[in-house]
Amino acid sequence: MPHRHRPNPATASIYAYTGPIAGAVENRRAHGGVRFVDRCNCGATRATNSNGGALERGPWREPDSTQVRS
Ligand SMILES: [Zn+2]
Repeated sequence: MPHRHRPNPATASIYAYTGPIAGAVENRRAHGGVRFVDRCNCGATRATNSNGGALERGPWREPDSTQVRS
């Protein structure tokens, strides 16, 4: 059974908005606010843009794929 990523609230981070999230369904209303990054205990991360209650949620990224920068 595949591992199902779950955000660990103790390791979540919050950043200023930096741009649309790759792989997310674009939601312009969620832009311009903040970006949350959830972390699973396995090291996978998931970014979410949030602004005034609007959300733009990206996919979970495995720890290995986060090392790759294009
Ligand atoms: Zn995980």
